[in-house]
Amino acid sequence: MPVSELGTVVIASRNRGKVAELALLLAGLRWDLRPLDDVAGGAEISWDESGSTYSENAAIKAEAVCLGTGLPSLADDSGIELMALDGFPGVRSARWLGDDATEAQLRAALCSRIAALPEDERGARFVCVLALAVPRATGRCSVSFARGTVEGTLLVTPRGHGGFGYDPIFIPSGETLTMAEMARAQKDRLSHRGRAAQELIRTVSSRASIAID
Ligand code: IMP
Repeated sequence: MPVSELGTVVIASRNRGKVAELALLLAGLRWDLRPLDDVAGGAEISWDESGSTYSENAAIKAEAVCLGTGLPSLADDSGIELMALDGFPGVRSARWLGDDATEAQLRAALCSRIAALPEDERGARFVCVLALAVPRATGRCSVSFARGTVEGTLLVTPRGHGGFGYDPIFIPSGETLTMAEMARAQKDRLSHRGRAAQELIRTVSSRASIAID
């Protein structure tokens, strides 16, 4: 199957911020990108993010949706890593306060956690791994990956209303605005997700087909 002509590709996420960004970042591919809850049976699909790496979790999500719908699926697993805290919260960025914590609660808790650190020790980075799962004739899926990162610094006082998640407390290196103060196109150009999307587009464009044995 030509990779550039996968047709409908289901986004394996219920995070509205991620879904909106991915739809715009991948608009250049000729894929009909659909949110999970908009496809037949999608609302019933769940998964357990039990992996210890972004790649494992992205594959868990993409495969669950690919197998559950029979359609190609794209998953994003991402997080923020503080250098002074050995990469915390990392792969657990959405869950380190408990499963029901809101984005505002996660942000506020991270700000309290770093408040005692001097400014020059608030270095951090965002990481994003995209996994594309394509159904195979064997009944399994083949999975390919793309990764992107962006380095920066964390603030203890949020600024801006754009983006989502930790954007209001993250300033990319060399910039003065937080990712929540930037125009969408500027965040997309330099963000971890924007970079992973560029890598995915390059991979897809350079590969004539995906084996469906
Ligand atoms: P996941 O669903 O396990 O991948 O969770 C990712 C976590 O990192 C969530 O708490 C997101 O809000 C946060 N996150 C991922 N990407 C971004 C981003 O682009 N901006 C802000 N926060 C993000």
